[in-house]
Amino acid sequence: MSYLTLDKVSHHYFSKKNFTKALDELSFSVDKGEFVAILGPSGCGKSTILSIIAGLIEPTEGDVLLNKQKINESKLAIGYMLQQDYLFPWKTIVDNVLIGPTIGKMMNEESKNEAIKLLEEVGLSEVINDYPSSLSGGMRQRAALVRTLMTNPEVLLLDEPFSALDYLTKLKLENLVSKLLKTYKKTAVLVTHDIGEAISMSDRILLMDANPGTISNTFEVPLELRNEKPFYVRRHPKYQVLFDKVWDELNKSDPASVKELSNNYES
Ligand code: ADP
Ligand code: MG
Repeated sequence: MSYLTLDKVSHHYFSKKNFTKALDELSFSVDKGEFVAILGPSGCGKSTILSIIAGLIEPTEGDVLLNKQKINESKLAIGYMLQQDYLFPWKTIVDNVLIGPTIGKMMNEESKNEAIKLLEEVGLSEVINDYPSSLSGGMRQRAALVRTLMTNPEVLLLDEPFSALDYLTKLKLENLVSKLLKTYKKTAVLVTHDIGEAISMSDRILLMDANPGTISNTFEVPLELRNEKPFYVRRHPKYQVLFDKVWDELNKSDPASVKELSNNYES
């Protein structure tokens, strides 16, 4: 059953000098509890899609439905996690995590306990009273993840949340995010330009073309890979098969972007 639906969504950006057709009649849907990855080169419209789903920008044309309601009329919470963590430097980790309940005037003992429990779950119990500046990039992203989960979102939008991290930290965080989303049965949309990340985290991959942004291909991730931790997915024989398929499709439609994407794998 489709839970989140984009129906013929187009988006154009206008400025004094420029007109950019960022998305062109894009349609897809995501089931409840499903994890979909949107893969494509930079500038193909990935962040625009997430901003539209989050209700931050109104599409030029088309509809977005969540649980059969228009997104701007829906009361269901949507969580957003970005490449930058946007933690407030003057607040401790626990206070940063409690920002949602504080602003929403829903701060109580229960939300405090929930925050502490989640911080423990992501391995941050030692630093809850520290300030963001004393934490590593990976720890800060874990805190940002907990802050997002504190709003109890029905849908989690992840905009290249690991791309500023070193490789090992990124792999660890992929495992953690994947585990948490499965445990709490969240619906998620991850955008990334990393083929490996898309395969190892998601149930389905939507491949995008740029100028204007459209979906060129869809790949189902085999069940054996979906049930595995992201780190182990990368070692599974079926991983390479899917990787090559995605790579070939990209090569066919957009050799320039393959060059960009391949920079992630060549040293
Ligand atoms: P991605 O996240 O895949 O890198 P974006 O959604 O950020 O792509 O951008 C898609 C296209 O829209 C790009 O050509 C980008 O330059 C353009 N664009 C994005 N945001 C704006 C904006 N606020 N004003 C004008 N053009 C924009
Ligand atoms: Mg982007």
